[in-house]
Amino acid sequence: MKAGKHALEVWKFGGASLADGEAIKRAAVRIAAHKGPLVVVASALGGITDLLLDAATNAAAGRLVAAEQAAQAFRSRHQAAAKAAARDRRALRALLAEIDRSSTEFQELCRAVGVLRHLEPRTRDAMVCRGEKLSAAVLAAAITTARRRAKFVDAWDVVRTDHVHGGATPLIPDTTSLARRLLKPTVARGTVPVVPGFIGQAPDGSVATLGRGGSDLTATLLGRALGAKRVVLWKDVSGILTADPRLVPDARLIPELHHQEAAEVAHYGAKVLHPRALIPIAGTRIALHVRSFIHPDVPGTEVTARHVLPGFPVKALALLPAQAVVTVAGKGMVGVHGIAARTFTAVDAERLSVSTIFQGSSESSIGFTVPESEADRAVASVSRVFRQEIETGLIDGVTARKGMAVIAVVGEGMAGTPGIAARVFSALEAGGLNVVAIAQGSSERNISFVVVADDAPEAARRVHAAFQLSKIGGGRARALRRTDVVLLGFGRVGRALADQIAALEDDRQVRIVGLLDRSGYVFDARGLSRRRLLHLAREKDGGGLLADLGGTRANAATALHLMASHAVSRPVVVDVTSEETSDLLLTAVRSGFHLVLANKKPLATSWEAYARLFHSAQGSGRHVRFEATVGAGLPIIDTFNKLDETGDRVRRIEGCVSGTLMFVLSEVSAGRPFSAAVREAVARGYAEPDPRDDLSGMDVARKGLILARMMGYRGPGVQPDDLVPARMKSLPLAQFLERLDELDEEWRTRTKAEARRGRVWRYVVSATPRTVSARLVAVPASSPMGSAAGTRNIISFSSDRYRQEPLVISGPGAGPSVTAAGILNDICDVALR
Ligand code: ADP
Ligand code: ASP
Ligand code: MG
Repeated sequence: MKAGKHALEVWKFGGASLADGEAIKRAAVRIAAHKGPLVVVASALGGITDLLLDAATNAAAGRLVAAEQAAQAFRSRHQAAAKAAARDRRALRALLAEIDRSSTEFQELCRAVGVLRHLEPRTRDAMVCRGEKLSAAVLAAAITTARRRAKFVDAWDVVRTDHVHGGATPLIPDTTSLARRLLKPTVARGTVPVVPGFIGQAPDGSVATLGRGGSDLTATLLGRALGAKRVVLWKDVSGILTADPRLVPDARLIPELHHQEAAEVAHYGAKVLHPRALIPIAGTRIALHVRSFIHPDVPGTEVTARHVLPGFPVKALALLPAQAVVTVAGKGMVGVHGIAARTFTAVDAERLSVSTIFQGSSESSIGFTVPESEADRAVASVSRVFRQEIETGLIDGVTARKGMAVIAVVGEGMAGTPGIAARVFSALEAGGLNVVAIAQGSSERNISFVVVADDAPEAARRVHAAFQLSKIGGGRARALRRTDVVLLGFGRVGRALADQIAALEDDRQVRIVGLLDRSGYVFDARGLSRRRLLHLAREKDGGGLLADLGGTRANAATALHLMASHAVSRPVVVDVTSEETSDLLLTAVRSGFHLVLANKKPLATSWEAYARLFHSAQGSGRHVRFEATVGAGLPIIDTFNKLDETGDRVRRIEGCVSGTLMFVLSEVSAGRPFSAAVREAVARGYAEPDPRDDLSGMDVARKGLILARMMGYRGPGVQPDDLVPARMKSLPLAQFLERLDELDEEWRTRTKAEARRGRVWRYVVSATPRTVSARLVAVPASSPMGSAAGTRNIISFSSDRYRQEPLVISGPGAGPSVTAAGILNDICDVALR
């Protein structure tokens, strides 16, 4: 294809759009279909930069095993991507050799750093730069496979930077002449140069990176150098939104944004744009488009030099998490000349990234925000500058308050519109949220304020609503209507759930995008097809592991990070394992997932772990639902919440919450031998694979603890009555089932004795705000619990309103399909919020 009369464009593909071989192929097809001259900039495959940085940190701390594992993951992800993307044998061989060389070099660097126990920014850059180099090489091969000529061109040859490793600034004149010399002729021949983003060459010849998200900057830089008409950043969101959709579910696409506004949004940490990406194209006529690679038909956001959308003085919010407010305070400062200048000279000397500066009108204090991790350094350096003033008492001291977040409200029209600040504050006040500090940018294009980090998501949502940003006109962010489910575990319940989701009406838009087991994961941001799920279910039944079934080998935390870096919308992790998953769920919440649990263990561990999970979810606006942990599909938790929300006070929850134990005990009270009842429960799939898990009462005790904790109980778990005699505890399962008959006589006597008094045995859990128990109890045969049979659960709530006669809920409380129904109900509940 000849360059012809079309104007040049630069396209950058973010990590999420180059997540794996399939995604790379899709990107390549789109590139090949474009008519006209094109330069492509590639980010590292999604999650790779984090992986490399973590490995470097681990190596420097001497944790070489972890670093080694990361190097392996790095190698295998690129190998898989290359095999999927490159068809030509020779090209593939060359790619694999390069992947091998780069991975081995990385391992060697890790070892060297491990010996030195020290990591210079320069070394870190040398380690991390390989992510973009390999992805660009793989993408170039994929474009060739898609039948358009493409060529890998190393950014090290093209982009020149200053010497600040880890956050280098490109040198525009040098880069411009190199780009013209090295890229133009290739483009003129109709070939697509594919350039690694994020990296350049420092004056000493070493590789320097441009800071996180730096590929955006590479793209605008090359756009300017080559006089492109347009720079397109392909992302996992439909464009620049009014706020981070993970924080503000109501966020909308902004159709048009002025350069300056986009620059402010980026400066205040909206991850969607590198903070300095606008610098190269400021003052030029180059248009910048941010678009969705998933919905290429949506026009996205155009960042232009025109002044746009005057009806919205405020267009967007951005949030900087993990900040600290550093304050220099003292009555003696009033009127003293140069305090501010000296403060910021000190800050500048340390190269601290100050985002906001505050000065009270009384001039008795001056403050600024820096990332939490830089706070101590900031305090030390400013204190040093004012040592004398502190000694003489002119200044009281320099302090840092950590655990803060900065929220910036951005929009061009703010300058001429009165009352913007007042609107911000009344919105926050209405929510009872406290503002720690406030600053208005001198450009009047932003107001930023500091809140305690835990309040930040709520504050962002309130301010977003106050300016009616959900009506900005770009429509609801497309990707947001769906709810994307990632299943932790894929056993019987997981499969029943997959079936029920498939049967849902379409407008609910719930899809399963990922599966995780202990070996690895399977993921497709577009949703896993029913056929694929069925196939996987069959293979898993045969004992297969996801990593061997076309999945990717990875630990669960890495997999979750990776999935979160894709275009998932309203992502929900559904835990249907029976493992201790607390840490993993915490990772999931921090990566932006909502949680739906059928797994009881994470809610029945220590109080601290329980509180941490809920606290962390609340802090980031995530929901946690766990209806299926007690009573499968029965609305038990839901009923509690409704009573609680409407002002009733629940005093006691009591009942039979084990379908298995209800089955066994009701059969026994009807005259059946204990052994036969247990064997049938197993045969019918009511019991856990090893029925001792049910008979031990542990399962019931966990449910009891969950119920009690909802009511405010903070004490330890309970020791349940155990129906398995000590001598049979450690028998192999088959032997246990065989020797069950030994227990029959004792049960017969026990049952008869109670029958004479009109009573039957039931396994009863009882929870109050201060106590919890799980016991084998003889109850009147005519009571609701005593007359229940089968796998029925029966739970009663005694509350202020239901004092005389408790509110009773009863129904089938076990089995994959009712459990899945409980889970699905939770998922839809999360989706509607
Ligand atoms: P890339 O893959 O190109 O590097 P990023 O992951 O860096 O893209 O940026 C896209 C992410 O930025 C989105 O997934 C979204 O969660 C986040 N984001 C934060 N603020 C905004 C915003 N205002 N508009 C759009 N996305 C935002
Ligand atoms: N891969 C780098 C990062 O994750 C640069 C980029 O994606 O733009 O920060
Ligand atoms: Mg980015």
